[in-house]
Amino acid sequence: MTTSLFFLMWGLATALALPLLLPLRTRGVGGIQAFTVANALAAFSMLSYASAEIVPPGLYVMLSNATWVCAVSLVYVGVRQFFGLRPHIARTLGISGICIAAFAWMLYVQGNLVGRMVLFSVFTCVVMLATGRLMYRHRKRIHTRGVMLYVMLAVFGLAALHALRVVVYGFGWEAPVSMLQLSRWGLVFIVCGSVAVPALFLALLLLIQTSLSEQMQAALTFDSLTHAYSRRSILDELDHELHRCDRGGGKFAVLVLDIDHFKSINDRYGHAAGDTALRHYAQVVQNAVRGSDRFGRMGGEEFVLLMYDCDPARALVQAQRVCDALRDTPLYLQGVEVPMTTSGGVATYQMGDSADVILARADVALYRAKEQGRDRVEMAWNGRGAGRTQVGGLAGGAAANAPVATCETSETTA
Ligand code: GH3
Ligand code: MG
Ligand code: MG
Repeated sequence: MTTSLFFLMWGLATALALPLLLPLRTRGVGGIQAFTVANALAAFSMLSYASAEIVPPGLYVMLSNATWVCAVSLVYVGVRQFFGLRPHIARTLGISGICIAAFAWMLYVQGNLVGRMVLFSVFTCVVMLATGRLMYRHRKRIHTRGVMLYVMLAVFGLAALHALRVVVYGFGWEAPVSMLQLSRWGLVFIVCGSVAVPALFLALLLLIQTSLSEQMQAALTFDSLTHAYSRRSILDELDHELHRCDRGGGKFAVLVLDIDHFKSINDRYGHAAGDTALRHYAQVVQNAVRGSDRFGRMGGEEFVLLMYDCDPARALVQAQRVCDALRDTPLYLQGVEVPMTTSGGVATYQMGDSADVILARADVALYRAKEQGRDRVEMAWNGRGAGRTQVGGLAGGAAANAPVATCETSETTA
C-alpha cells in the first residue's frame, strides 16, 4: 500500500508539467507535441504501478514499462525536433519496439526480474545519454543563462540514476525485488526518481518557454524582412550610445541611408521583388561595414548605421564604402540585372545630442545627397540643426531647411 502511494505521488508529480505543456502544443516550436505525449505516458507509467492493488501484475507491469519506454523515446525524438534535426521516428520506434518485445518475453516467458530491471534501466540510461549529448552539442541555441545547464542536469541526472540501478541489480549489490516491495535501494530509486522524472519534464517545459521568449525577443530586436536591427532597438541603442558619449566623450557617427528610386523597383517588378531587393540591400550593407557597427531599418527603404568610435573622416569612408558596395554588387530580379544605388547623410556626435537632433542633421545631409543627384553621401554640418519633429521621418520637411555643409565623399576622403 505504502509503495502504491509513493507511485501515486510520483505519477502526479510527473503530470505537473502536463497542463502547462498542453496549451503550448500549437505553438511553432519543434518537439512540443512529442514532449506533451511523453509527459502523459510517463505519468501513466507511474500511475500504472500505483494501481498494483487493483490491476493484475501481468498487466500493470507491462503497461508501466511499455509506456515508459515510449515516453523516453519520445523525449529523444522531441529534442531532435526542437533542434530542427531529422526526428528519426521510425528508427527510434523500432528500437523501442524491440525493447518492449524483449521485456514482454522476460516477463511472460522467462520470469526474469533482474533481466527486466537491467533492460529497463539500460534503455533509459542510453536514451537519456543520447538526449543529453544532443543538448550539449546544440547548447548555444538557447542564450538565456542557466537554462541549458538545468535541462542537461535533469537529463544526465536521470541517466546517472539508471546507470546506478544497473550497477546495483546487475552486479548483485541487492537481490532484485519488485519495486512495490520496499527494499533499501528500491526506496532510494523511488525517492530519487520521483524528483528526477518530474524535473525532466519541467526542464523540457522551461526549454520551450525560453525558446518562445527568445523568439519574441528576436522579433522585437530584428526586422523580420531584412534581419537588420528593428527601428525600436536601433533607436534604443542610439539613445544609449549618445548618453555614453555625453558621459565619457567619444567619436560617434550616424549614417542615414535611403535607397534611390526604390518605388520604381516595386512598380516594375512587383512588391515581392521589392522585398527581395530590400533583403539584398541589407545583406550588402552589412557585409560592407565593420562588424562592430550597428545597422537597423527605420522603416520602408530607410536605414540607419551607427558607427562607433568613428571620426568624421572615417565615417565618410565607411559611408562611401556602403554606396560603392551596393553599386558593385549586382541584384538580379526575374533574371534581369537591376541597378541599385543608395544615398546617405552622415552626422557626427556633438555634445548634448539627442537621437532626434543627430538624426535630423543626418536627414538633412541625406536630403542634400538626393538633391545633388543620388548615389552619394553628404556630411552634415557641425552646427545645431532643427530637431526631428518625429523620429524616423525621412529627409525633407522642416528638417530639410536646416543648414548643412556638404562634401562629396570622393573628394573628402581622397
Ligand atoms: P527616392 O530616391 O527619392 O528615395 O525615391 P524612392 O522611390 O526610393 O522613394 P519613395 O518614398 O517615393 O518610395 C519608397 C517606396 O518604398 C514606396 C513604398 O511602397 C516602398 N516600400 C516601403 N516599404 C516597403 C517594403 O517593405 N517592401 C516593399 N517591397 N516596398 C516597400
Ligand atoms: Mg528612397
Ligand atoms: Mg524613402
